[in-house]
Amino acid sequence: MTSTPSQRFAGKRVFVSGGSQGIGEAISLAFAREGARVAINGRKKEKLDALLPRLAKVAAGPHIACAGDVSDETAVTEAIDKAFQDLGGLDILVCNAGIQIKSPSEAISLADFEKVLSVNVTGVMLCVREVLKHWVRNGTKGNIVVDSSVHQIIPKPAFLGYSASKGAIGNMVRTWALEYASRGIRVNAVAPGAIVTPINDSWIHDPEKYKAVSEHIPMRRPGQPDEIAEPTLFLASDQASYITGQTLFIDGGMTLYADFEKNWAS
Ligand code: NAD
Repeated sequence: MTSTPSQRFAGKRVFVSGGSQGIGEAISLAFAREGARVAINGRKKEKLDALLPRLAKVAAGPHIACAGDVSDETAVTEAIDKAFQDLGGLDILVCNAGIQIKSPSEAISLADFEKVLSVNVTGVMLCVREVLKHWVRNGTKGNIVVDSSVHQIIPKPAFLGYSASKGAIGNMVRTWALEYASRGIRVNAVAPGAIVTPINDSWIHDPEKYKAVSEHIPMRRPGQPDEIAEPTLFLASDQASYITGQTLFIDGGMTLYADFEKNWAS
């Protein structure tokens, strides 16, 4: 028996950064399934246009593409303004776009370090700032969910910029949550563990590496993008109306000190 998706987000308008693939794609599809109009952001307009027809049709009108690099201040302002204009406003912002660059820390280039921070930290700040400008002006009780990572708290050797950026997100979310709680604006984060998306192309197509990753996860498997999308929708929904400033770890147990699963000696 197939169940009809609920229409929790009918009439809502959502902006998803980095929404054309991976977790962002799953989030965009899930919001549309549940009745929201979606503004999908990403750097390549063709990729966004290709995804639009796959989003469930909603009565309120078409979904839209808002192309733009989140690390570029002008591009973010234009993309967010376009979403407000074309959708008549925004109710929910999902800051999902993120990158990682591998390098031993003794050899990391300043350019690579700053590139990761410019997307994962500055990019999130710019999207949130632009949306807040509208919400504060209009008195909108909006809702923000940011894609963090288990590396908000688990160190990630050879990915210093990524570790720094996701650590920063935890406190940025708490700061925004406190600053805007009295206006009815909620801000939370989801923190995925290992999820099967293109950012993990280095292991998801290699059975040996896939097995090795799975063995390090208490639930013995990586997660699927929908397993991040559903909790993201929960945090953005009225079911989470009293939750703000939190990071929800969605990781099959990765943050449970997995090495302690078995008793080492005693
Ligand atoms: P992905 O590489 O598949 O997708 C990332 C998306 O962000 C892509 O659509 C990409 O085009 C977009 N993007 C990258 N740079 C951008 C920029 N400058 N401007 C606009 N868009 C940009 O990765 P994913 O796994 O779907 O990751 C989504 C988020 O989840 C990221 O923030 C990532 O750090 C986080 N995350 C992923 C995992 C995982 O295992 N997949 C784990 C923890 C956290």
